[in-house]
Amino acid sequence: MHGCDLLVVGSANADLVTAVERRPAAGETVLGSDLAVHPGGKGANQAVAAARLGARAALLARVGDDAHGRLLLDSLRDAGVDTGPVLTGGTPTGVALITVDPSGDNSIVVSPGANARLTPADVRAAREVLASAAVVSLQLEIPLETVAEVVRTVGPGTRVVLNPSPPADLPAHVLAACDPLVVNEHEARFLLGGPPDAGPEPGATPGPGPYEEWARALLGRGPRSVVVTLGAAGALVCGPGGTSLVPSPAVRAVDTTGAGDAFTGALAWRLGVGDGLEAAVRFAVRVGAAAVTRTGAQASFPTAEEVDRL
Ligand code: ADP
Repeated sequence: MHGCDLLVVGSANADLVTAVERRPAAGETVLGSDLAVHPGGKGANQAVAAARLGARAALLARVGDDAHGRLLLDSLRDAGVDTGPVLTGGTPTGVALITVDPSGDNSIVVSPGANARLTPADVRAAREVLASAAVVSLQLEIPLETVAEVVRTVGPGTRVVLNPSPPADLPAHVLAACDPLVVNEHEARFLLGGPPDAGPEPGATPGPGPYEEWARALLGRGPRSVVVTLGAAGALVCGPGGTSLVPSPAVRAVDTTGAGDAFTGALAWRLGVGDGLEAAVRFAVRVGAAAVTRTGAQASFPTAEEVDRL
């Protein structure tokens, strides 16, 4: 029996959001709406998504000893995430400064703060927690050497799920550990070094066709399996046994913020409780679809009952 179904190792940010009539040019000041502060960061988002579904989920992250850090810890605990492994102090909590204009386009400045100080030594100190997890889920909003150390430190009994976001080139030993590597269209494109000739144009309606080639090309880079998320079209699952498309339920999409984090948190949890990859993806597409029917990131993540009703 594992100590937890899912350990997420990743970022926790406070998202500071203000609506503006238009975004400021260089040297200009514009007024924004009252500030909204939301818990975010891909690591925290995945952990919250899984815990809200009922997972025994824990988070290894770093926050500052400040008001944003306390807000993040409270939101994690409210969702049922085990915050025991969260490290505190020494530096400000990571922050995303977000301005949204009337068309819904946003400009974001991320100050990684404490996220950038989650070190390989922190990972080694958490060896026991890592070893007790059925699945460890990673993203790239913490230093790449920390991600690499997680992969070196987990025991053979722990499965690694990785979403390379924001995209970066991955060391071979990290790629080889991914089971699955979870990418959206943009991340796939980055990892493949630009679109293959057969690939769709940016903004084209996603469909399984050319993406199957992308998934197989990514599998050729070394991961044990690959999942390509395709927005409203669902997700492609690709492993040694072949490729299959898992469609997403049709929903009225209101806000897709955090859909990928909800999807990956749900997927990693289901793998942690013993589902096969395709079954886990069938569940995760429903979680992603439910998440796009409400605004916000963590605020939009569904409970298990809400997923059942979909
Ligand atoms: P990201 O948020 O990382 O760009 P996607 O947009 O591919 O990732 O979304 C992740 C998952 O969320 C999809 O695989 C799908 O299950 C679900 N999803 C996203 N957008 C929609 C939508 N418009 N309708 C239904 N499901 C969606």
